[in-house]
Amino acid sequence: MKLFNPITLLLILIGAAMVGFVWLRGPSHELPPVESLANFQMADAPLKLPADGQPRHRLHRMSAWDLATLPRAVRFDPPMGTEQAGLTYNAQKFWEMNNGRGGHHTGDDLNGIGGMNSDLGDPVFAAADGRVLYAGEPSPGWGNTVVVAHHTADGRVLQTMYAHLQNIDVPVGAAVARGRVIGSVGTANGYYPAHLHFEMRESDGVDIGAGYSMNPMNRLDPEATIASMRGAPADRPSPAVLPVALDRGNPWNQVELSPEDAAKLGEILKREPAADGE
Ligand SMILES: [Zn+2]
Repeated sequence: MKLFNPITLLLILIGAAMVGFVWLRGPSHELPPVESLANFQMADAPLKLPADGQPRHRLHRMSAWDLATLPRAVRFDPPMGTEQAGLTYNAQKFWEMNNGRGGHHTGDDLNGIGGMNSDLGDPVFAAADGRVLYAGEPSPGWGNTVVVAHHTADGRVLQTMYAHLQNIDVPVGAAVARGRVIGSVGTANGYYPAHLHFEMRESDGVDIGAGYSMNPMNRLDPEATIASMRGAPADRPSPAVLPVALDRGNPWNQVELSPEDAAKLGEILKREPAADGE
């Protein structure tokens, strides 16, 4: 007795070929596009590091190259208002409990003293020298958001995060100096009256997370952290760069000058400004 007549055998073969074709071409056998390795410097970066100009806000780790080239931040200033945070107030302080949102506030809400939308479009400054790790809109509620990484004088990697911005003035990867305008105060697409949600974290990766939480995780109190690293009394503007370089007694000063260079800089500082200067 014949088990299979030729027609049945043919149908079985065609069926098997179709299943095999689908299996081989199926999505589970397609490798995800490699988005890393844009250049040799990123060779140790994990896959999915944004190398295509489309920043993502989850699991973005800094590469060894990013860490090695991170600018050293010797001083931190408030990100809004004057250098002493004048003309601003903190409407919702770090770790205040917000029952309506079901958690503690993960940053400071900085406002212009005029209240409501009077600070809409006001400049937002980089709090310290650093590099832009993220610039984008992680969600409508966060609005335009910038994350800057800083290498502190004591070797930590800190981040400052600026959220609800009206617009962003710096690209990802840019080195920014303390006081550089990185964007302007906004409303997060009209979700809130204009204010700056400002966070600080100790981290070498970007994880935007939520604005309210029951666990502080890597978040720091921005006001206290900046006060501890301002390098100037609360009622004084931060000093300019050259006096800082000459101030050897300051623990945040990492600049080592030879006596000759220090003498030269001292002479430069004593000079009268040029008539057409400033
Ligand atoms: Zn906030």
